[in-house]
Amino acid sequence: MTTYFAPHAWLDEGVTSNVRITVHSGRITAVEAGARLRGDVPLPGLVLPGLANTHSHAFHRALRGRTHDSVGNFWTWRERMYAVAARLDPDSYYALARATYCEMVQAGVTAVGEFHYLHHAPDGRPYSDPNVMGHALRAAAFEAGIRLTLLDACYLTAGVDGGPLEGPARRFGDGSVAAWAQRVAALPADEFSQIGAAIHSVRAVPGEALPEVVEAAGGRALHVHVSEQPAENEACLAAYGVTPTQLLYDAGALSVQTTAVHATHVVDSDIALLGGSASSISMCPTTERDLADGVGPARRLLDAGSPLTLGSDQHALIDPFEEARALEMDERVATMERGRFTPAQLVAALTGQHALGWHDAGRIAPSMRADLVALRLDTVRTAGAAPEQAILAAGAADVDTVIVDGRMIVSGGRHVLGDIGAQLHAAIAPLWT
Ligand SMILES: [Zn+2]
Repeated sequence: MTTYFAPHAWLDEGVTSNVRITVHSGRITAVEAGARLRGDVPLPGLVLPGLANTHSHAFHRALRGRTHDSVGNFWTWRERMYAVAARLDPDSYYALARATYCEMVQAGVTAVGEFHYLHHAPDGRPYSDPNVMGHALRAAAFEAGIRLTLLDACYLTAGVDGGPLEGPARRFGDGSVAAWAQRVAALPADEFSQIGAAIHSVRAVPGEALPEVVEAAGGRALHVHVSEQPAENEACLAAYGVTPTQLLYDAGALSVQTTAVHATHVVDSDIALLGGSASSISMCPTTERDLADGVGPARRLLDAGSPLTLGSDQHALIDPFEEARALEMDERVATMERGRFTPAQLVAALTGQHALGWHDAGRIAPSMRADLVALRLDTVRTAGAAPEQAILAAGAADVDTVIVDGRMIVSGGRHVLGDIGAQLHAAIAPLWT
């Protein structure tokens, strides 16, 4: 048993001072406010529940600082992403994912949703173990000390027109929903990783195949890219006469287990379907701005009934606090109003562990998993901030301590695996030579 002492902690009732948190076997067993430090492990600053990164493509980390030198758009960016995808094998994927997940933990993330579609060998043929790339991700997460929800994506076609996967995209596809489901069924879950499912998008899974994917997902977390780009909407309307959200709804793909990723270009009826089904949303503001996607209707989606969560997606930045700040700031720019979200609503978005199937995480309360993130309040960014508003001033570099399932993975701002910058460099440099 270990007891931690927090000068300030973000509890269900809000920021509370002088909190003792008792942890036993990876769980919080007691939370005591108004306590006095007496032989506890002291944590600095403001202690938050574990943050959830609900949308990650680990290998996109290799693109950071490599795609900003020219104009272009999502589609030209995707050409470079495909070039990196073509070079990865299970060993290099493991090294890159491990370093990327370490960067996440160092930023306060205790669980990641990996939207996984880089499945097969470069020519599209399965490896001798067809799940070897998924195993690489699971091993990487375990080593990095982060919980993983592996959202294995069904990816069948190159576009809404149903064209075949070509070039690097051949690695993504299993050929049929049945083959995808059979492969995913061979992936085991454990205490620190779950196997979820994903529909890559309505571009990659034909409408008639969607119900079969939903059935195979079987009530597990189901994620899907939705309306990140207007072109997806136009193609979907041309092919099916309905929006991507409506197509998903008609297929039974929207439910409380579902997370719609981006939902940038959704119309009023889409918002009603997403909210009415209590589907969660994974907003990825730093990616959406980097790719010039646009600003999605976050506040309206929340008001309609969709819990908001946050993802770093292509990892142009891994900083959950910047994602949360962007959620609010993008709304301000779009609506010319301040205070679109309260700090408590932003913390709820930061801790969206439910969207990854971790319903026993994301709060500092008895019986919850012992995920604790201590944010310093005495750095050049956070000094002077009121604890209640510190998340709007903080950045990833202000994270001092990260405890995941009761294990201290980051202390004094350093990951137990050492120099993560060096590990990222070692993993990424060979991909560009
Ligand atoms: Zn994505």
